[in-house]
Amino acid sequence: MYKLFDLIEKHGEHEEVVVCYNKHVGLKAIIAVHNTTLGPALGGTRMWNYTSDEDALIDVLRLSKGMTYKAAVAGLNLGGGKAVIIGNPKTQKTEALFRAFGQYVHSMNGRYITAEDVGTDVRNMEWVYTETPWVTGISRALGGSGDPSPFTAHGVFMGMKASVKEKFNADSLKGMRVAVQGLGHVGYHLLAHLVGDGAEVVVTDLDGEKVKKAESEFNVKVAATDKILFSECEVLAPCALGAILNDETIPKVKAKIICGGANNQLAETRHGQVLKELGILYAPDYVVNAGGLMNVFVELETYSKKRALSKTETIFDNATAVFQISKEENIPTNVAADRLAERRIEQIARLRAIHTGQNHRTFGTLKVENR
Ligand code: NAD
Repeated sequence: MYKLFDLIEKHGEHEEVVVCYNKHVGLKAIIAVHNTTLGPALGGTRMWNYTSDEDALIDVLRLSKGMTYKAAVAGLNLGGGKAVIIGNPKTQKTEALFRAFGQYVHSMNGRYITAEDVGTDVRNMEWVYTETPWVTGISRALGGSGDPSPFTAHGVFMGMKASVKEKFNADSLKGMRVAVQGLGHVGYHLLAHLVGDGAEVVVTDLDGEKVKKAESEFNVKVAATDKILFSECEVLAPCALGAILNDETIPKVKAKIICGGANNQLAETRHGQVLKELGILYAPDYVVNAGGLMNVFVELETYSKKRALSKTETIFDNATAVFQISKEENIPTNVAADRLAERRIEQIARLRAIHTGQNHRTFGTLKVENR
């Protein structure tokens, strides 16, 4: 039997953990708010058939902390939060379940703002929206910003430009060989940017249809799914799975730069150090894949595609700042990204303490009272 509060304490200093239960609709969910120093906690709702309540709790604690860091490095006035719904997303989704969940989100009065994530989609968020305005990623028709993945891809491309500048002092990807693993929402949108900038692209996906489509639409080569990570190339762009950079794969990687959209690419934190020792520049995943989050942030203000795109362009500077810290302090880039996040949060917390004599929270530029 795990000890609930010991487990919460072990996984970081979360501000709030809310257990949501409604037996009539079968709702079992947990919302975790990690840190709201910079603004309201924003993070998606994951629906997953967790094998235990403990696994669900660990996941939501870990993911919400990750959102705090991602928003902080992205320069957004947002904190970190996340929700998990325990259940099978293929068979257990109902309108009533998501509306009951929406009532819990509403009861948090804007301290937590939700969005879609693995196992949930726009339709589910629209059910949540019937109970609370504290939800993003809803359809364009309802005033939302729609699919975030083109913005994620644009941000990854900006991170890649910053990486080639850092590694090769190059201003474009012209003539560089880029290997893309995964042609889903992010990977596919990334192709247009890469090809448009003159890169020589090699792709793969488990889904042969996506590969065929990429081949016919763009001038790309194809690699086998078990070979792509080890392609002879300047840049490797993982856009499929997490934990692909591990003890087994890293020694075989030939790329000089790793920069892609996939979450949690390093199997363990220590793999950042391994990459550094090999002279491979790793653009930390949460720094370069923040474009989707930036897009929903703009949705919380007054949505403008132009503004969302110009925000994603800041990822070039964010990645450059991370590389700078990594060099100055002789630390791996993944550790440098965490430091950048922690410093921003500390500075803003201190600023508040000085100016107000208390830890007063403004929600930055967000018109939270209008939602
Ligand atoms: P997706 O499900 O649309 O695409 C993933 C693709 O990867 C699929 O086409 C799948 O067939 C392929 N794939 C899976 N395993 C593979 C393998 N072993 N080899 C080759 N291809 C494989 O997902 P997505 O929305 O494109 O997201 C991709 C990654 O980026 C995920 O890790 C996601 O968490 C992360 N991410 C996405 C966004 C976003 O805006 N969609 C934002 C931030 C981070």
